[in-house]
Amino acid sequence: MGTISSADQANSCLGCGAALGEPFLDLGTTPLANSYIKPELADQPEPRYRLAVAYCGSCHLVQLTDRVPPQHLFSEYLYFSSYSESYLEHASRMASSLIRRLRLNTSSRVVEVASNDGYLLQYFQRRGIPVRGVEPAANIAMHAIRKGIPTYNRFFDSEAARDILATFGPADLLIGNNVLAHVPQINDFLLAVKAVLANTGCAVFEFPHVLELLRHVEFDTIYHEHVFYYSLSAVQILANRAGLEIFDVERQPVHGGSLRVFLQPRPYRPVHPSVEAVLEEERLEGLTGPDRWASFSEQVANLRSDLLELLCGLKRERKRVAAYGAPAKGNTLLNYCQIGTDLIEFTVDRSPYKQNLLLPGSRIPIYAPEALEREMPDYVLILPWNVSREIISQQADYRRRGGKFIVPIPKPRILDSIEDTVAATVCS
Ligand SMILES: [Zn+2]
Repeated sequence: MGTISSADQANSCLGCGAALGEPFLDLGTTPLANSYIKPELADQPEPRYRLAVAYCGSCHLVQLTDRVPPQHLFSEYLYFSSYSESYLEHASRMASSLIRRLRLNTSSRVVEVASNDGYLLQYFQRRGIPVRGVEPAANIAMHAIRKGIPTYNRFFDSEAARDILATFGPADLLIGNNVLAHVPQINDFLLAVKAVLANTGCAVFEFPHVLELLRHVEFDTIYHEHVFYYSLSAVQILANRAGLEIFDVERQPVHGGSLRVFLQPRPYRPVHPSVEAVLEEERLEGLTGPDRWASFSEQVANLRSDLLELLCGLKRERKRVAAYGAPAKGNTLLNYCQIGTDLIEFTVDRSPYKQNLLLPGSRIPIYAPEALEREMPDYVLILPWNVSREIISQQADYRRRGGKFIVPIPKPRILDSIEDTVAATVCS
């Protein structure tokens, strides 16, 4: 159902301008992954956009071939970071580690780009460190401001950088968690980052590592909001172009396996050997050439057949199947696999902002988590598989009454026990 809307089709790389070849993965046309639907609009068609990914042989940047203008994506965004407990724990640890490492104190300045509802800045603020958030989604920025986190409601660009310098001062630390993927004008963005940093300041970006996406077939993390899928090799070329130097990189077990990259505007700190180690690993895994990408499409198609076989088999046995969660990635998974209410009756989500809406495309209804115990489906497909451990431990009653869980990634399978879950989510 729906109409195919035209996005800007790109023939050239957004990083270096070189001509882009054919996409290595084409997921068809899907609605925007965050365009949840009000039930009264269920019979209206949805705009759909092509979802395909290409690799730039010149600068290694992996990117969407069709780009939806950002203003279509961000006006009313329903992802509140604070609804995931494990992500809050990650944020708290991140703040403590950066405060210690960079010796931040009450005269330091911390800026976060895409600061969401203040989930991370709150931990700096509690230690008396001045903070400013930058958040383009109006409803989420308001939420942060009400919680007492000073937040600019805008996109981060050179103009925002000038404003921050004038009203707050140069940043000792600028953080961008899961933001690099969202910014089509990535060169301008990094120049603005450099502009806002103090001479001895540092920028820290966390993003899902495209190496993990390939290894674990995390194709569902591809959706229109994510223009880029980064290797360190690609980030290094972009950073150098903007006059920033990568001086350290750490692996983080969030969003299916992420990198935390440290950049500086001047060679103030020595470059840690981890940078060369990750670059070398990417070269060995084929991330800096076209062949490894070309083989990915078949892995994705196999995952789709396996998942459909599993769900259709349960349907034939007259089992009831629901889902857990309403994350953007779930919408890529369901829409690419063409799974609708014929195979999944409903899903549940803890966020009251998503409850009683329908998932885009698949039109699966979203209820509050209590629906699981009320309805007692035989199986629950976990859509935010990166936090499956957290979800399964929260659903102890459902489990005790015989409910079973399915994880779709990296290979669709039914989990037999909680230990099995731990094994399945080592890289959550
Ligand atoms: Zn390029």
